[in-house]
Amino acid sequence: MKILVINAGSSSLKYQFMESEGGEVFAKGLCERIGIDGRLTHKVPGRDDVKADIAMPTHGEAIQAVLDILVDPAKGVIASTDEIAAVGHRVLHGGMEFTASCLVDDKCIAAIEKCIPLGPLHNPANLTGIRACQKVMPTTPQVAVFDTAFHMTMPPKAYIYPIPYEYYEKDDVRRYGFHGTSHRYVSARAIDMLGNPEHSRVICCHLGNGSSLSAVVDGKCVDTSMGLGPLAGFLMGTRAGDIDATILEYLMGRYGYDIKEMNNILNKKSGVLGISGVSSDFRDLDEAAANGNERARLALDKFIYEVKKFIGAYSTAMGGVDAIVFTAGIGENSCDLRADICSGLEYMGVKMDEEKNKVRGKETDVSAADSKVKIFVIPTNEELMIAKDTEEIVKAL
Ligand code: AMP
Repeated sequence: MKILVINAGSSSLKYQFMESEGGEVFAKGLCERIGIDGRLTHKVPGRDDVKADIAMPTHGEAIQAVLDILVDPAKGVIASTDEIAAVGHRVLHGGMEFTASCLVDDKCIAAIEKCIPLGPLHNPANLTGIRACQKVMPTTPQVAVFDTAFHMTMPPKAYIYPIPYEYYEKDDVRRYGFHGTSHRYVSARAIDMLGNPEHSRVICCHLGNGSSLSAVVDGKCVDTSMGLGPLAGFLMGTRAGDIDATILEYLMGRYGYDIKEMNNILNKKSGVLGISGVSSDFRDLDEAAANGNERARLALDKFIYEVKKFIGAYSTAMGGVDAIVFTAGIGENSCDLRADICSGLEYMGVKMDEEKNKVRGKETDVSAADSKVKIFVIPTNEELMIAKDTEEIVKAL
């Protein structure tokens, strides 16, 4: 089934037009600067990229621009928009409402709206994308796929926060976790690569600009590092991860920050950027560290140390581990970081093959032949998962 996958942000919209069965991508691209001026980048495999300035006062014009270029006789890939069987939307926060993907109808939209307080930056943008598609393609079925849904199988002891229980009961404060579509895809691939055993324990390391780990038993998530929001877990490009809440009161008192400023510091100025003062990009950090920058080295060391600690914790939580998966920008591409994370984990049966580990962006088993725990590099494919969910839901209509 030919599916248009949409990931709408506040001023951007990523799209991928693909076949849900084999995963073939016909075209993909990005609308940027929505609400400012508008810029479209459109890529078709085997052809030159198209870049065009197109007025995009709202997401509606952006979606229209995507449809126009998909059917353009020279730059497009289809003769008519009728060939788009359905649209799958990435939605950040499904709260407690959504444990799986769902068909977009009035009830689904109302439930996504209800989750806005939990995902105040992303959910409104995701909804704008959904509404824009409904307007320009009113008869095409739409499906919402949630970043949080895969983690909804966590047991209460993993998702409850140790604060007064009434905040969970009345205000839905609990661990939700994110990158769920990625964790779902790579854990399923890992189980496949393990030979589909009856019992499996997988730790997925989604290491990118935003990073999270998940512990997956028999295909079901039992714990994950992100929390109520995507600031939680371990340090990331610019996000702090879990920190002592005392720091907030201390700095807010000392510098007179309000909560908005404090949030901005924790989300945009912290993580490896905050420690290094160099960059949030791990390639820049590698280069700076190689040139003797000690703070860049410290940022990398801190990242490696924290990921290792989560691996140890999740292995204990699951009573052992059968496979560790590396995915996303850093996990798929940084051989050094993967090696540094696995180094010292030999005590738990993790042994990497250094030669095999020299791989970038390709599904590979990088563990040594005598490693008890498999180490897999698995490029994530959230779009394929969204397309597959969309197909399944639309086929059942
Ligand atoms: P993502 O958010 O999944 O797109 O990942 C972005 C992150 O991947 C950035 O921090 C990049 O620096 C990092 N990345 C991409 N390629 C490499 C590489 N070859 N070595 C180290 N980090 C990389």
